[in-house]
Amino acid sequence: MDKVDCVIIGAGVVGLAIARHLAISGREVIVLEAAEDIGTITSSRNSEVIHAGIYYKAGSLMARFCVSGKRMLYRYCDEHGVPYRNCGKLIVATNPTETEKLQGIRAHAEANGVEGMQLLSGPQARAMEPALACEAALLSPSTGILDSHAYMLSLRGEIEDAGGAFAFNTPLLRARATGDMIEIDAGGEQPMTLASRLLVNAAGLNAPAVAGLIEGMPPALVPKAYLAKGNYFSCSAKAPFSRLIYPVPEPGGLGVHLTLDMAGQARFGPDVEWIDHIDYTVDPSRAERFYPAIRKYWPTLPDGALMPSYSGIRPKIVPPAVASQDFVIQGPRDHGVAGLINLFGIESPGLTSSLAIAQHVGELAAN
Ligand SMILES: Cc1cc2nc3c(=O)[nH]c(=O)nc-3n(C[C@H](O)[C@H](O)[C@H](O)COP(=O)(O)OP(=O)(O)OC[C@H]3O[C@@H](n4cnc5c(N)ncnc54)[C@H](O)[C@@H]3O)c2cc1C
Repeated sequence: MDKVDCVIIGAGVVGLAIARHLAISGREVIVLEAAEDIGTITSSRNSEVIHAGIYYKAGSLMARFCVSGKRMLYRYCDEHGVPYRNCGKLIVATNPTETEKLQGIRAHAEANGVEGMQLLSGPQARAMEPALACEAALLSPSTGILDSHAYMLSLRGEIEDAGGAFAFNTPLLRARATGDMIEIDAGGEQPMTLASRLLVNAAGLNAPAVAGLIEGMPPALVPKAYLAKGNYFSCSAKAPFSRLIYPVPEPGGLGVHLTLDMAGQARFGPDVEWIDHIDYTVDPSRAERFYPAIRKYWPTLPDGALMPSYSGIRPKIVPPAVASQDFVIQGPRDHGVAGLINLFGIESPGLTSSLAIAQHVGELAAN
């Protein structure tokens, strides 16, 4: 049986960032990916926003990794020529109750270490975005967008330059802990059995199922997987905004917000639709809920402008009734299996946090 140092399950943005971290620190790395290429699942079905870290619970992994990961990601993009735009975002209040909430959002963001948050009056916000209707707004200058595919290609290039290898169409089938090594059976086009010192489960939506395939992993520590789809609508009209526009969040979600892609094209969403099986179809009738929500801050959105676009599925590990979850990253101290690291519930801000998550996993792996 071939022996290797590190096997990473999953070539989404998180698995890639971890593989790159380990490879450039001199470790031998093989990435096993069930799909035919890198980043084809959740990592290519998101908003491509570099989040500031505003809302996450103080002290949570999401708050810590988003704020540090954002700084690392901007630096990475600069150093590796990955296209990005630090465009900023406005959180807009459209009634007095929402206006009162902005102070609290700013205080929470600052406690999380988010820099530069500014409260703006309605006229100040409209001086920045003339088409905006609002009473007041909060500017988050450190929010941005990036070309996530260019980012993933850059990570892949660094992994390969450092001697790392990829096996595509090669799903993990089962694994068993044998003391100081983990034996791994992978199927698909390149069936193989390997013994690895380190196994990182970065299988995204499938991470709980993959953990369930590892003999020795205590089943009680494998969370149940839930799926929360986020649907996007694109806009046929040119949206007159140069920053991302978010309403004040409501219980259960961030509200229908406007993000921009690197070409300046606007899209609205994602909303939240709990589902029980993977299905990326966007139901056109959901647009009916988008129009009134968007017109609160963009009253001139033309009728018929919204078109179903794409969707992504959040890898939830809590049921709908639970308001929020944190990233769960388990090392041997948590589950007792030497050499195994599991990542569960890596939903947003997983893209923003990817380099910080990789650093954390690198530290767990070094211990
Ligand atoms: C609607 C939506 C919007 C989002 N917007 C943002 C945003 O704007 N900013 C932000 O920071 N984050 C955002 N996120 C979160 C971000 O997209 C994810 O956190 C990130 O893509 C997760 O990456 P991953 O590598 O963990 O998972 P994935 O990209 O899902 O990769 C997991 C990989 O594992 C592979 N795999 C599964 N099972 C196996 C197996 N048995 N063997 C081998 N391989 C396997 C899969 O094929 C897949 O390629 C958003 C998420 C959603 C759903």
